[in-house]
Amino acid sequence: MDKKIKMAYYIILVILILLFFFPEDEFYQNIKIINNPNNLIVLVNKNNQLLRNYKPNDLEKINLEFANENKYLRKEAKIAFEKLAKDAKQLGYRIVAVSAYRDYDYQNELFNYYVKEKGLDYALECSAKPGHSEHQTGLAVDVEGENKDYDNFLDTKEFTWMKNNSYKYGFILRYPKGKEHITGFKFEPWHYRYVGIKIAKEIYEKNITLEEYLKSR
Ligand SMILES: [Zn+2]
Repeated sequence: MDKKIKMAYYIILVILILLFFFPEDEFYQNIKIINNPNNLIVLVNKNNQLLRNYKPNDLEKINLEFANENKYLRKEAKIAFEKLAKDAKQLGYRIVAVSAYRDYDYQNELFNYYVKEKGLDYALECSAKPGHSEHQTGLAVDVEGENKDYDNFLDTKEFTWMKNNSYKYGFILRYPKGKEHITGFKFEPWHYRYVGIKIAKEIYEKNITLEEYLKSR
């Protein structure tokens, strides 16, 4: 009996230590409204929200050679993305944008669709609440590769190429594996964010996230 009580104390102690080191995440808590939405390194995540009426004023359509239908990015990101996709194509890779700028209301519909179809937990894990999606900045793009299935982009040669080369064009893999506790999003091999070449290179070389980069400045 004594041994069992000791064991119970031990288990409780371990649980308390784990709770101390891994507290419940703070996502969607203490939300700040973003006051620099046009900044190329604007931070949009589960704690930083864009207003409903924010829409970039320099959106441009991606050349349909590199997008599955009409998709828009901010001018600088659009030029960089087309250059990336063109260079990739010359090397035998297929990089095609399947999602880029999304407005607040569309994100709202998307999030509610997931809630309705798959439940709140799923929606929270796989989507973002309106105002909390980077796609509203016009600086984020989801891509697909040779298998024409962005959800399985991880399995493509294009993913390996993007992971190692997208920074040269100013893009970062925004939600890397192992950084979920920092970004608040699960690993998304298909989602890239434009931040400019200099900062993308630093983030790539240091193997950090945009959150960590901004904190370290
Ligand atoms: Zn995305």
